[in-house]
Amino acid sequence: MIAEIICVGDELVLGEVLNTNAQFLSKELLSLGINCKKHTIVKDKINDIKYAINNSIKASSFIILTGGLGPTDDDITMQAIAQAFDVDLVLNNDILSEIENFFKVRNIQMPVSNKKQAFIPDGATILNNPVGTAPGIIWEVKKNTFILVFPGVPYEMTEMWNQSAKDYLKNISSENIIIKNLKHFGIPEAKIGEKIKNIMTKDNPHVAPYVDNGTTRIRIKAHSESIEKSKTLLENTEKEILKRTAEYFYGYDNDTLESVVGQLLKDKNLTLSMAESCTGGLISSKLTDISGSSEYIKLNLITYSNEAKVNMINVKEQTLINHGAVSAETAEEMAKGIKQLSGCDIGLGITGIAGPTGGTPEKPVGLVYIGVCNHESLNVYKVQLNSKLPRFKMKTLACDYALNFLRLFLLSS
Ligand code: ATP
Ligand code: MG
Repeated sequence: MIAEIICVGDELVLGEVLNTNAQFLSKELLSLGINCKKHTIVKDKINDIKYAINNSIKASSFIILTGGLGPTDDDITMQAIAQAFDVDLVLNNDILSEIENFFKVRNIQMPVSNKKQAFIPDGATILNNPVGTAPGIIWEVKKNTFILVFPGVPYEMTEMWNQSAKDYLKNISSENIIIKNLKHFGIPEAKIGEKIKNIMTKDNPHVAPYVDNGTTRIRIKAHSESIEKSKTLLENTEKEILKRTAEYFYGYDNDTLESVVGQLLKDKNLTLSMAESCTGGLISSKLTDISGSSEYIKLNLITYSNEAKVNMINVKEQTLINHGAVSAETAEEMAKGIKQLSGCDIGLGITGIAGPTGGTPEKPVGLVYIGVCNHESLNVYKVQLNSKLPRFKMKTLACDYALNFLRLFLLSS
């Protein structure tokens, strides 16, 4: 089954707002076995919206619109839909009382213009909006052709999708597609491509690698006449891939390096402290993005200067003189020092040259040392990142390398 997405809004066409609604919806549709073949964005112009609808209705079973449902004069999506199908907009009293109630419970006088949002095309079904005033609609405009309309505000759209639209479409879609992503770190796309070359030639399951920063993700998509059969197809392919890529594999779908590290620390009942230099607190920030991280993160410092390294975490002045701040020896002492200071089970130290200035022939931009230690052992890892990367990318990638080495350290200890 085929879908098209039409997003309405001047701000989208002008590039002021990124069209994240289309991204979200395409991914969600695919998980239901509905392929999205086109994204269109149009201005808040009635003829442009009508033109886009009339075009997509010829080829697609699902036309999904977002935006232009607000109370102001430039919100005209419902009028455009009504005109495209030559029906009237009719006042829906259920929606009107919902909107009136929305203002009543907030103790605000309802603006007259909000009444406009209670008019929907004759024949359409309401899609409730639990977080805003503009309701959406689902409408079977002709046999097996559906129009779904959502507000533009991303969190309203996603709430409505998750709470009602998704189940509605699940019941209509006859496809039994399953998708799973296998995430790998530290292996380039081309190398992973070589390893799974013969698996990638098949149509079903369809296997393809994608690169998202340092992570290489392999997406497996399987379909068949039943969900059970799709599952078996997918699992067999997953096993075959992991036989060849297991040493780089760290997680599935929504897993991140930080969530996997967090889970490992939790499972092993270990605490962690970090002393960061070139990443400027990024590792700490990523790890504390995970809810519940206070269970295992105890003390993180950004020891940027030599003085801070010496005074706060006991890096020896002689180490800095002999080997420099960016060295295996300094990373080692940073890891040991922060572990000692915090009393945690694990210490991590990271030091490197984020650039674009500061590199030398012996120590080029992108050189990073990561020290990780526990009570028994200490490992120092050296990474040479591409020296041409912009500073922010360099920091992000150094952070991901550190998280991955930490993951491997935890797995092996
Ligand atoms: P309302 O006007 O009541 O807020 P609406 O349905 O009219 O709702 P829009 O006015 O089109 O929605 O958009 C509201 C806000 O949502 C916009 O300011 C924009 O920031 C954001 N938005 C709209 N469409 C998209 C989109 N496709 N992707 C991401 N953000 C969007
Ligand atoms: Mg609006």
